[in-house]
Amino acid sequence: MAKLQEKTQTLKRTALPKDAVVAVTYICNSRCTMCDFWKETRQPTVTLAEYAKLPASLRDINISGGEPFLHPQIVEIIRTLRVSCPKAQITISTNGFLTDSIVKRVAAIRAFYPQIGVRISIDGVGDKHEEIRRIPKGYDKCIATLRRLRQLGVANLGIAYTMTNENIEHLHQLYDVAAAERVQFTCALMHSSEFYFGGKENVREGGRIAAIAGAYDALAQRELASWNPKRWARAFFAHGLAVLAREGRQVLPSRAGTDFFFLDPWGNVVPSVMHPNVLGNLSEHDTFDALWQSAQAAAAREGVRRAPNPYWLICTARTAIKRHPVRVIAWILAQKFATMIPKDSATMHGHARAA
Ligand code: SF4
Repeated sequence: MAKLQEKTQTLKRTALPKDAVVAVTYICNSRCTMCDFWKETRQPTVTLAEYAKLPASLRDINISGGEPFLHPQIVEIIRTLRVSCPKAQITISTNGFLTDSIVKRVAAIRAFYPQIGVRISIDGVGDKHEEIRRIPKGYDKCIATLRRLRQLGVANLGIAYTMTNENIEHLHQLYDVAAAERVQFTCALMHSSEFYFGGKENVREGGRIAAIAGAYDALAQRELASWNPKRWARAFFAHGLAVLAREGRQVLPSRAGTDFFFLDPWGNVVPSVMHPNVLGNLSEHDTFDALWQSAQAAAAREGVRRAPNPYWLICTARTAIKRHPVRVIAWILAQKFATMIPKDSATMHGHARAA
């Protein structure tokens, strides 16, 4: 009987998460139009001992902010996570404006973790990036940081673009910049969040929805044109953004708060930036597992199930794509097959059937 109870308890346990975004600070040196974090004055409180509680189950950790390189202990935080989550790929997302400071800290991190990834947020080419981020010479600073990091030997390097109503036309230009600079390109669509981006609301204007969806459809086709399976997965992600913009739905269910969590600078663990229900605070539990299995965590997951708003974020989509390989591969094959049929031939067949 005792064994049966133990087994039932084990079955009820929620498996530990695979993916996380860790916002080490909300303090920021940018002045972005779509985010109010730069008004934040509260200092972060999570200690290194609390970061050491993060679970070894993690395979991907995105260090974000605010501007993470403004955290005085950023190097030590990465060192701590390397020990507590040894199998995780750690990538830092930065606005890229503090070139010297970023290069110095990344060099220090590479001394014990050469595989560190860095993504520099760039939302438009030239003046457009400055207009959005409101930092003079912002674009030039980001490109300088990118090149210095490449010279340093950072192999896992990329440009991260976020689409708003203001910069739709710059998606493909930045994709070309990334190719020319020989770095990766990742993209996102601005979501509205009750608490992230400083609570700023980012609503997609009706007239621009078709343009947003069309730009992401075209990006998906560019990624599919390669023979690199990693880029096909990115094509599917871009397809998900197009569908979210056009139809307001997710192409795959994702499990924020189960496969993924977001940690804020004060130790609060929430399901994602879209879900404000707190699963628990790192300072209140001896282990991450205790937090993850708590009644409060279960209630927060219930909140996710009832949440009305669809979302398609790289952090939650990554595990969703891994959980649904058949659907993803079927979409990729259908798209590949469609591009192999000459358009004239498809039209001819259509006419033949009609006749
Ligand atoms: S979007 Fe990023 S860089 Fe801009 S203010 Fe917000 S946290 Fe800072």
